[in-house]
Amino acid sequence: MSARRVTIVGAGPVGTLLALLLARRGWHVQLLERRADPRRVAAGGGRSINLALAARGLAALQAAELCARIGPELVAMRGRLLHDERGACSFLPYGTRASEVIWSISRERLNTLLLDAAAAHPRIELAFLMRCVDVDPQRRVLQLQSGDGETQAQPFDLLLAADGAGSAVRSALVRRGLSRALEAPLEHDYKELGIGAGAAAALRWPREALHIWPRGGYMLIALPNIDGSFTATLFLPRSADPGFAQLRDAAAVRAFFAAHFADAAEAIDDLPGQFAAHPQGRLATLHCEHWQAGGCVGLLGDAAHAIVPFHGQGLNAGFEDCLLLDRLLDSHAALEALVRFERERRPDAEAIAAMALENYEEMRSGVRDPRFSARAALAAELERHFPERFIPRYSM
Ligand code: FAD
Repeated sequence: MSARRVTIVGAGPVGTLLALLLARRGWHVQLLERRADPRRVAAGGGRSINLALAARGLAALQAAELCARIGPELVAMRGRLLHDERGACSFLPYGTRASEVIWSISRERLNTLLLDAAAAHPRIELAFLMRCVDVDPQRRVLQLQSGDGETQAQPFDLLLAADGAGSAVRSALVRRGLSRALEAPLEHDYKELGIGAGAAAALRWPREALHIWPRGGYMLIALPNIDGSFTATLFLPRSADPGFAQLRDAAAVRAFFAAHFADAAEAIDDLPGQFAAHPQGRLATLHCEHWQAGGCVGLLGDAAHAIVPFHGQGLNAGFEDCLLLDRLLDSHAALEALVRFERERRPDAEAIAAMALENYEEMRSGVRDPRFSARAALAAELERHFPERFIPRYSM
């Protein structure tokens, strides 16, 4: 394949992995990021501290030969550890085989490893503090704003947008009538709270599990970090009873946690302080009508199909996008590759979006029903006897 030039907007995990895969094909990649280099400037709070990587995401990292670097950063999670109201715990494995695990990784470390690899690649030109503010697919020109506020026009051959759920490229396509986008917000928000390694060890929390405190209408979860600490996330309605709106002061926060998550409350250092300082994040599912325009602009990752995080698959799906688009570009011209990418990928994106919403119900409520473990045991038996015909949803 002859050398090609591509501009990628967004040096988040999806944009950076895509840059690495395309550069491996001999393409010249310009990777533009609106923020300062996160390896030098600490990022502001907001998105999750750690996330779950699964086989789908790892397969894409493997294609970029990054697994050896990422391996030491991973903590295996072999199943869900449920904490009930009385503090008793029960374990629900993810699958019947030892290999059926998902992996917790620090978002910051993952980004750093990807950016280090991109910065070291001779065919990737990385530019930070470069915000894309507009794209004109007809003229093949994008408008960029640099850190000092200067705006400049830049021509492009092919532009791939991995600029996240609030994508400026998607907005430009919508403004020009080339796509439509609908964000379906969730009525529940989230807030992250850190749990120190010492506190987790004192409570003898097993590290190799995703901990869940399912409480029916809401839940707390905690993912392990490699240093033995955990990052907990509270998912709670914004304004119902109970809801974030009621947790206005330290006393209300303490009382709520003591009543519903007593063991976790013990482990979270300065709970009211963290609660007041950490942002309350919003969640939504994005439905975007067209993922490409003019055969020269394509959307992928959260920019095309942001979902709620309850299957831990948003980034995994974005990484899988990179793998598919890279393979299609191998044998098709850009226009054809972008059209095929959207056609092949959309049903999968819609499926995981719906399953992610369903899984919130399962995590916060379904797992408390004794019939849930009975169903899981039945699914495991069916898989054991008919592996060609039955695969439990979680294994898929
Ligand atoms: P982003 O990570 O949003 O990156 C976009 C990048 O583009 C950023 O660097 C941004 O600064 C840059 N950018 C934005 N606008 C511009 C612009 N105009 N010009 C230039 N650059 C721009 N997924 C999982 O697979 N597993 C999990 O366990 C998981 N947990 C999650 C928990 C929570 C609470 C949330 C909110 C999400 C979770 N996700 C998880 C989803 C995951 O975070 C996203 O799917 C993933 O970050 C998408 O990657 P991305 O690169 O497409 O977008």
